[in-house]
Amino acid sequence: MSLFRDDGVVLRAQKLGEADRIITLLTRQHGKVRAVARGVRKTKSKFGARLEPFSHVDVQFFSRGSELVGRGLPLCTQVETIAPYGGSIVTDYGRYTAGTAMLETAERFAENEGEPAVQQYLLLVGGLRTLAAGLHESHLVLDAFLLRSLAVNGYGASFTDCAKCGLEGPNRFFSLPAGGVLCGDCRVPGCAVPSPETLVLLGALLSGDWRTADACEPRYWREGSGLVAAYLQWHLERGIRSMRYVEK
Ligand SMILES: [Zn+2]
Repeated sequence: MSLFRDDGVVLRAQKLGEADRIITLLTRQHGKVRAVARGVRKTKSKFGARLEPFSHVDVQFFSRGSELVGRGLPLCTQVETIAPYGGSIVTDYGRYTAGTAMLETAERFAENEGEPAVQQYLLLVGGLRTLAAGLHESHLVLDAFLLRSLAVNGYGASFTDCAKCGLEGPNRFFSLPAGGVLCGDCRVPGCAVPSPETLVLLGALLSGDWRTADACEPRYWREGSGLVAAYLQWHLERGIRSMRYVEK
């Protein structure tokens, strides 16, 4: 039996019996962790309110086995709120749908329980903070998060230099299998040819250049989101269900 402590973001909370919940978290050191929170569905449970989706929390777990996986789920024994991002996310439809797609994507990329996914964790915390602050369009925050999640998981896209030969951009021909734009010599059949402005937007979202991204004209948003969604779908076996609710 052991106690361990970690920071995490609550991805999901599922009912368990009359009063308990199974909480799924993406933690800093232990990757995805599922744990039981007892008595949290009773009214006025402060403990329960801290374990809602989008919450960034510091949790103490009590593990009955020597490993996280197997021998029953660990128990959440103490919870402190680091940042209650849910408060300003769930009250706004655009933020809520974008945030839900972020949680689902983070869980998909950190599928193996107990396996650290530090960069994914940091991206999620940063993404939720940005989303909750409401400083940028919600769907752009989502697209930036998706592009960077793909990048930290080994699928970084190129939106300027040729993804095959490295020819300096701008290049126009976008290929999902190639992982970005291709030059005229490297282009393959089936490339999309997005607007140059859309490619500038996607490059800015990937690199965190919000000045450029915010200045992008809204007519390029939809094309950009379509390419991001297609690229994500290409690398994840099943799509992200909550993506269909995101407004653009
Ligand atoms: Zn090339």
